[in-house]
Amino acid sequence: MEKYVIEMPQEVKDIIRQIEQSGFEAYAVGGCVRDCILGRVPQDWDITTSALPEQIKAVFRRTIDTGIQHGTVTVMIGKNGYEITTYRIDGEYKDCRHPEQVEFSASLKDDLKRRDFTINAMAYNERDGLVDEFEGIEDLEKKVIRCVGDARERFTEDALRMMRAVRFSAQLGFEIEKNTYSAISELAPSISHVSMERVQVELVKTLLSEHPEYVMRYQETGLFSHVLPEVGRLLGSKYAKSAVAMLKNAGKTPVQRYAALLNTLEPEAARAVLKSLKLDNYTIEHAVKLVANSKIVIEENEPAVREAIHRYGRELLLMMFEHEETIIAAKEEITGIKLYGRRKHLTVLRAMYEEITKRGDCISVKDLDITGNDLMEYGLKGPQIGRTLDKLLHIVIENPRLNDKATLIALIEHLD
Ligand code: ATP
Ligand code: MG
Repeated sequence: MEKYVIEMPQEVKDIIRQIEQSGFEAYAVGGCVRDCILGRVPQDWDITTSALPEQIKAVFRRTIDTGIQHGTVTVMIGKNGYEITTYRIDGEYKDCRHPEQVEFSASLKDDLKRRDFTINAMAYNERDGLVDEFEGIEDLEKKVIRCVGDARERFTEDALRMMRAVRFSAQLGFEIEKNTYSAISELAPSISHVSMERVQVELVKTLLSEHPEYVMRYQETGLFSHVLPEVGRLLGSKYAKSAVAMLKNAGKTPVQRYAALLNTLEPEAARAVLKSLKLDNYTIEHAVKLVANSKIVIEENEPAVREAIHRYGRELLLMMFEHEETIIAAKEEITGIKLYGRRKHLTVLRAMYEEITKRGDCISVKDLDITGNDLMEYGLKGPQIGRTLDKLLHIVIENPRLNDKATLIALIEHLD
């Protein structure tokens, strides 16, 4: 085991040392150990310990009770937080959210045994080096996701682990070990008991991973049929190819990846899927708009581009350009034919957008050289004012040179 020396951040070393000096055990555990061995940068450093939460709180000056009933205390060092969790034996996850009861344990091995996959069940500290009780290293080398212990039992305890298996396989480019895979296929219906919030976390991590095309595994195992039937049908149809190609070419944001996945659905069907996932409104609205506008063609002239900026807003319009680029790349990938004309059109639109932005052309009522007050002085009242401003705006969008107060006042009489 000497082979594995993990370079832990100084703060983590200090935390472990302080816990040890108080007479307890402590190890870095789970994702951070896995990622270090793979040469990836860990998201965060979790620590597992034989000390009870109260004992951890006695060792450190600044702590937060993150999930004290489950044994987790966050220790703050500067502005960084580290989750420190007491060795646990988990009971069944009855509400599919938290284990029914947690039992603290004095043994590291117990704590590793409750973890989902062998590659996530390794611990490390400087005193003992790597602790790998379940052949995690072997599975990292074989590039497989395998449950700790009996796969059927582990998925019955917590069905979310089936989604996690697919998620880790997509993040790491790993296969799901055969027995673990067949347990997922068998137990897929039980995913429907898991809360959508938890499902969504795993799904979005899959979509944003290096291998978003592995979403097909949610379809192939039957998981999607029981948690997102509409997406299950989509990925079981001839549109799967397009969805997968879109995902591989889409920008790395949830909005873009969800829009890529759902692009062949009707906008309202896409909205229903995103709503059922309990996503935030920003993600839902923007992804639906990308799907809904994906067939819109903007003409290749500056007034049309200004009109589009006015209509969609800069943020969405730039996303629409990227979505169009994704569609083009996906089509090219599937057919093997370069779409020069469509790419050229997009390049021209983007260049026009840049020019318009650089010049600061008028694209909204507040950019007009005339205000509601000016129109009131001119004698207009109430709703007339808004309507007139709007008409003037569209004239100026057509012809920016007219954006001058005297010219606009002179135009009012000629509006219909
Ligand atoms: P990430 O890089 O996405 O944070 P991670 O491996 O740290 O990956 P987390 O979801 O943060 O994953 O969980 C931390 C650790 O807790 C896991 O490595 C695993 O050991 C354990 N774990 C998390 N969720 C479960 C679960 N549902 N069942 C069993 N063990 C779990
Ligand atoms: Mg983590």
